[in-house]
Amino acid sequence: MSNSNTNAINADPSEIQKFSELAHRWWDANSEFKPLHEINPLRLEWINNIVPLAGKTVIDVGCGGGILAESMAKKKAKVTGIDLSEKALKVADLHSLESGVEVRYEKIAAEEMADREAGQYDVVTCMEMLEHVPDPASIIRACKKLVKPGGHVFFSTINRNPKAYLFAVIGAEYLLQMLPKGTHDYQKFITPAELTQDIRNAGLQVNSMKGMSYNPLTQIYSLNQDTSVNYLVACTNPL
Ligand code: SAH
Repeated sequence: MSNSNTNAINADPSEIQKFSELAHRWWDANSEFKPLHEINPLRLEWINNIVPLAGKTVIDVGCGGGILAESMAKKKAKVTGIDLSEKALKVADLHSLESGVEVRYEKIAAEEMADREAGQYDVVTCMEMLEHVPDPASIIRACKKLVKPGGHVFFSTINRNPKAYLFAVIGAEYLLQMLPKGTHDYQKFITPAELTQDIRNAGLQVNSMKGMSYNPLTQIYSLNQDTSVNYLVACTNPL
């Protein structure tokens, strides 16, 4: 790989395979990907309120089947989606053909894309992906490299504490069976302190953080101040 930081690709093959095996169900809103469908309007509006997406160049890192990527393109952003799962990208491409919402998809590592298209994006999004990679800090540095000076970067991931284990692993995978068993590896969860440290080390500025929680009784997700399980971080690249 043409990457100056590392010779090995920063990906866990079993993670990529896991998403590839499910990829054909990506756009089925009642499938394993139901949670992504349900949280998408929330995160899309959160992003679009911070930086109106119309006319912006956006790259979605770890885009999967393109749920967020397409929705940002619908807001009239010029969107590129990258991932390492070929199957997920095929599904994303097909869906974009069907919906007529144009997105450019490419199978390429974030670090390699950052070498190739450094400083070309107004907005970088990297959602629900860092907890699946061996070296999240390297992905964060790649996001910093991709964004223009003054541009915005958004991350979301899962906190690491007993409550997060209970909700994101035991609750979602075993009790509610919302996600396949083995979707999430608790040890790879990232605390807000760790994430914000990595973000600052990469040279980005942390602007705001939101919690996202799921109420199993009402089956409704909401954005709030509770970052104990799922959370999102908005950053800017200093001018
Ligand atoms: N960001 C999308 C998909 C999240 S699922 C959304 O929130 O809707 C996690 C995605 O990360 C999968 O598509 C998986 O293939 C991808 N992924 C995992 N490891 C990766 C890596 N090292 N590089 C790029 N993508 C990766």
